Amino acid sequence: MNFHVLTLFPEMVMNGLSTSIIGRAMNAGLLSIEAIDIRDYAENKHNRVDDYPYGGGAGMVMQPGPVYRAWKDLADRLEKKPRVIYMTPQGRTFNQQIAEELAQEEDLVFLCGHYEGIDERVLEMIVTDQLSAGDYVLTGGELPAMMMIDCISRLVPGVLNNDVSAEFETFHDNLLEYPQYTRPEEFMGKTVPEVLRSGHHANIEKWRREKSIERTLKWRPDLLEGANLSKKEKKYLEQLRRAKEIEEISAETENGNSESLLCKG
Ligand code: SAM
Repeated sequence: MNFHVLTLFPEMVMNGLSTSIIGRAMNAGLLSIEAIDIRDYAENKHNRVDDYPYGGGAGMVMQPGPVYRAWKDLADRLEKKPRVIYMTPQGRTFNQQIAEELAQEEDLVFLCGHYEGIDERVLEMIVTDQLSAGDYVLTGGELPAMMMIDCISRLVPGVLNNDVSAEFETFHDNLLEYPQYTRPEEFMGKTVPEVLRSGHHANIEKWRREKSIERTLKWRPDLLEGANLSKKEKKYLEQLRRAKEIEEISAETENGNSESLLCKG
């Protein structure tokens, strides 16, 4: 899989992605990542790539010419019009499902804006997808691109030592992952759950699924609607929901009682 990042800050992208698992995958030839400096495509002696916005307003806007020429050079080299993803807070919010879809591509281009963004005309001409890192505004598209490349790369066969590990993680099956433990067996008085030390694989699997369901209900109940649960697991979820309701009602009653005691006092 080949990632091409169009950016004004190529070192930032390459420095951020050349270490650890992604760096090793690049060295092993499983991935290639290149950062293309949009500034190299400026056509003025100061290599300027931005200008004031028409209509006024704060900040600067990246000009269309350098972005277009950087893209054209790449498209000619690839001998195709690649999928170009513009990093923007106005796009669809990136998630694991989108990562899984993008991991099927051979080439992906990430276009990073800076300042107030990029002239709309070139976006209309070259961009195929718009993705956001989340509902907040950053100074540039480099961090979102690095984050997305990291996430997509983990799904490329061979990048993780153990191919199954990406399959059973958080968001797979719309569930959060179960808690993980490693040595030592006891840490400051807290021991690793007995079942994980039992070596009984079926019990371990059952315990992990239940923990996944418990923490998804607690922290991301919105995910559960799309979760793929067995009949037994659905029943378990119902029990948890009932227990949670009872807990909430008794907490409310307790609050009510202490409030009325306060009123009387
Ligand atoms: N004026 C733009 C707006 O209101 O939509 C925001 C420009 S932002 C300061 C500069 C660049 O950072 C954007 O062009 C985009 O590439 C990137 N960026 C900022 N926030 C982002 C986010 N949440 N997701 C993806 N890219 C983002």
